[in-house]
Amino acid sequence: MVQVNGNYLKLKAGYLFPEIARRVKAFSEANPEAAIIRLGIGDVTEPLPQACRTAMKAAVDELGSREGFRGYGPEQGYPWLREAIAAHDFQARGCQVGAEEIFISDGSKCDSSNILDILGEGNRIAVTDPVYPVYVDSNVMAGRTGEADAQGQYGGLTYLPITAENGFSAPLPQGKVDLIYLCFPNNPTGAVASKAQLQQWVDYALANDALILFDAAYEAFIRDPELPHSIYEIEGARRCAIELRSFSKNAGFTGTRCAFTVVPKGLMGTAATGEQVELWGLWNRRQCTKFNGVSYIVQRGAEAVYSPQGQAEVKTLINFYMDNAAIIRRELSAAGLSVYGGEQAPYVWLKTPAGLDSWGFFDQLLGQAHVVGTPGSGFGAAGEGYFRLSAFNSRANVEEAMRRLRAL
Ligand SMILES: *Cc1c(COP(=O)(O)O)cnc(C)c1O
Repeated sequence: MVQVNGNYLKLKAGYLFPEIARRVKAFSEANPEAAIIRLGIGDVTEPLPQACRTAMKAAVDELGSREGFRGYGPEQGYPWLREAIAAHDFQARGCQVGAEEIFISDGSKCDSSNILDILGEGNRIAVTDPVYPVYVDSNVMAGRTGEADAQGQYGGLTYLPITAENGFSAPLPQGKVDLIYLCFPNNPTGAVASKAQLQQWVDYALANDALILFDAAYEAFIRDPELPHSIYEIEGARRCAIELRSFSKNAGFTGTRCAFTVVPKGLMGTAATGEQVELWGLWNRRQCTKFNGVSYIVQRGAEAVYSPQGQAEVKTLINFYMDNAAIIRRELSAAGLSVYGGEQAPYVWLKTPAGLDSWGFFDQLLGQAHVVGTPGSGFGAAGEGYFRLSAFNSRANVEEAMRRLRAL
C-alpha cells in the first residue's frame, strides 16, 4: 500500500472552520426557521470593483483573437502588473522595492506555505499565539514541528502570546529563532504595529540572522497615517524580510485569486555548507518549476486596482467594511464587552463574558442570537477567552446581528 505523509496525521483533528460548520449545521437542522448571520469566516461579501470587471472582460475578448491570444505567461507574473505594484504599493511609500522582486501568485495562503519549500528543516520557528492557522499547519505538514500537546501546541514551535495584557504586541523571542511569522494588521486580533515596534523586530532579525515573513494582507484597512503598510518602510528590512500581499481583502479577490510575494534581491539564507545563498533565486526557481502563473485575465483585473477608478472603488469598499467594524465595536462596547481591533482592520476581537470560554460564547451566540463568530481558542491556546467577529458582511446583516446581540 502507498505510504502517506505521516506529518498530516499530527494535525489536530478539530480544525477550526470545519468544527464551526459542523455546529452551525447541527443547529440549523434542529432550528430550520432560524435566520443565521455569519460573522465567522473572513471572506468578503461585496461585489468586485467595476474597474476590475471591465478590465477582465476586455482581457477575455483579447484572448479571443489570434493577435491577442496568450498562452503560458511568465511564472513570476506579467511585467506591467509587477511594475504597477512596485510603483503604487512600495515606491510611492518610499520603499525601495523593484518590479523584479515581486512574484505574482494565486494567493497569500498558498505563498505563506509554499515558501517553506525553499527553507531548511532545522529552522527554529516563532509564531504569535493566537495566529492565522495556516502558518502553523503548513509547518506541521512540512514536517517542521513535533507532535501537538494537550493544548494543541506543537513541539518545536516557539509561541509568542498576544493578549490584552501585552496590548496584542508579541514579545521578542527569549532565545534565538530563525523564522518569524508576523501579520499586521493582525488576523485575528485586529492589532497593528507601529514603525518603532516593527523596527524592534527587524533589529532582532538582523542581530539573530532570522527571516521575517510579513503578512500584510490587511494593509489597505490601515487608516492611521503614522502606521507602516509595508515592512520595507523599516530600516534594514530588505535584509531580513519577505512580504506577502493579496488582492483578496482590499479588492474582493477571494474568489478571483491574485496575490504577490516580495523577495528582495540580496536577502540571504545559509546552506548546510555555511555558504550564503540568495533567497530570490531559490523562490524564482521554485515558482518556475512548480507554478505556471496566474491567469492573464485575473492579472489584468488586478492591474485595474491601481487605476484611478480602481483606487476609488477599493477605497469605497474598505470604508464600507470599516464602517461595519465601527458599528460592531460601538454596539459590543455598549453591551459592556471589552473590545479590541476593528479600527485599522476588519476584525473585532472581544473578550468573552465572564464564565464563558470561547466555544461557550460561540454556542450562546449561535443558540440565542443565531449569529456565528469565531472562537478565539481556534487560533491558538492564548486565544482562549476571546472571540472574533468579522466586519465582512452587508450593512443589513451587521445591524441585525448587533440588534440581536443587544437583546441578549
Ligand atoms: C485572507 C488572508 C490572506 C489572503 O489569502 P489569499 O490566499 O490571498 O486569499 C492572507 N493572510 C491572512 C492572515 C489572511 O487572513
